[in-house]
Amino acid sequence: MSDFPLFLAGEYTEAASGATFESVDPSTGERVGTAAKAGPEDAAAAIAAARAAFDDRRWAGRRGTDRARVLQAISKGIKERAAELAELESRDSGATLAKAKGADVGGAVHWFRTMAEYAPRLDEPEALPQTMAPGPSYNYVRHEPVGVATAIIPWNFPLQMAAWKISMALAAGNSIVLKPAPETPATASRLGEIIREAGVPDGVVSIIPGPGPGTGEALVTDPRVDKVAFTGSTEVGREIMRLAAGTVKKLTLELGGKSAQIVLDDADLDLAVDGAIYALFFHAGQVCTAGSRLLLPDALHDAFVERLLARLESVVVGPALQKGVTMGPLISQTQLDTVLGYIDTGRKEGATLAAGGHRLEDGDLADGFFVAPTVFTDVTPDMTIAREEIFGPVLSVLRYDDVDHAVALANDSDYGLAGAVWGSPARAMDVAARLRTGTVWVNDYQLLNPHYPFGGYKQSGQGREHGWQGLLEYTETKHVHVGLDARRASKRWFDMTVPRPR
Ligand code: NAD
Repeated sequence: MSDFPLFLAGEYTEAASGATFESVDPSTGERVGTAAKAGPEDAAAAIAAARAAFDDRRWAGRRGTDRARVLQAISKGIKERAAELAELESRDSGATLAKAKGADVGGAVHWFRTMAEYAPRLDEPEALPQTMAPGPSYNYVRHEPVGVATAIIPWNFPLQMAAWKISMALAAGNSIVLKPAPETPATASRLGEIIREAGVPDGVVSIIPGPGPGTGEALVTDPRVDKVAFTGSTEVGREIMRLAAGTVKKLTLELGGKSAQIVLDDADLDLAVDGAIYALFFHAGQVCTAGSRLLLPDALHDAFVERLLARLESVVVGPALQKGVTMGPLISQTQLDTVLGYIDTGRKEGATLAAGGHRLEDGDLADGFFVAPTVFTDVTPDMTIAREEIFGPVLSVLRYDDVDHAVALANDSDYGLAGAVWGSPARAMDVAARLRTGTVWVNDYQLLNPHYPFGGYKQSGQGREHGWQGLLEYTETKHVHVGLDARRASKRWFDMTVPRPR
């Protein structure tokens, strides 16, 4: 059996074709393990199992309180295996151990536990205002599971993303087929066992790592699928929309970003400098919400940049599992080439390279995909590095002259995922209200929470995940109207058949 087999309809199995692929540790280039490579026929089998499980109501028919108990057990199961999962996540995805423990494993524990709190709310119908005209009626809404959901996720937060999708789908009573990214099959594959042990009936969850073309496409086009939840690039998101249109599937899309951090002139510089570094260099910039544009007021620009560059020297780049490392590698050679390509473009278009700008390959770093923390100053809004999502450790610094200018610069983007304002809370909240993004942090960054809605304006996505609003994206809304006066004589609006004189 592969190290990371498919979890299909409650069983671990190889791909029908027997195909496998190697997962590689991006810190060292070493092999992490062999993964089964799901093909379209595996996608079809997983969908068939999910459809059968949904249609016989083995999960959807349970009370939310009962589903909540199972979700709690999954959360507990992840917690019990936290150390093993964190190490595996770190090797498979290049997450520092701190990120793997906190954001990935800790996030997964938190998400399943919180969605367990929400599931019982779906048991109770939601009363609507009663109506008396044209006759008395009682009206309510039922939030019912949407059916078979498929989820396609990227490689930057493999276990956390799997937990987001599966916890929300299960809380609402759906079946789900999840496709992890081919770069990171490991922890999602392990999750299958925990889900089975927690008591999720067979067929309700399948986890099938495999390529986007073919396997991913099958998950989006199959007529037995009711909803697709996609997290990934805007480019692939557009393709998903096109593919899903054929059968008019429900869609949530969490896509790319080019988030702006606005530093106000009354910002606490100790906080803002370290915050700005964390906002972009966390996980080497491979984060959808990365604060990749730093907007500084003219008056503060030089002093801020000087402090930022000095602090940046203390970022410790190295193999993700090594103690003390605060920034790990990029996920792959392809990503490394992409990021170095953007750095080259930044130089050519006239930005000033103030730090980094090259691959790191000395000593321990020789076989990994490391890029030095990079800062460009004198970036103008038309430059490629100010407009495109780089998904790497490259910060673009722009200047502004007043707050209106800062807001205009921040909003001058096809994206609208997140952003931050550093400054006194009252002024910062005024600015936050003017930003066209789904999340704004004031004097903070990168903190997502299962209670709070998350998603993008503009080309950063569609719909929201998390919280009550996110859960409702995994439901259909049914309105039920109960006529309270059931006498024929009272229903004048039925009078279509007019008695004729004989
Ligand atoms: P990607 O779009 O290349 O791939 C994402 C997933 O889609 C992978 O599982 C891939 O196999 C699959 N895929 C690719 N082509 C497909 C197709 N034609 N049909 C079906 N599936 C297909 O993204 P990536 O490089 O893995 O991840 C980085 C991107 O993800 C960045 O743009 C980042 O901003 C975005 N992201 C967004 C969020 C968010 O919540 N908004 C979170 C994390 C990452």
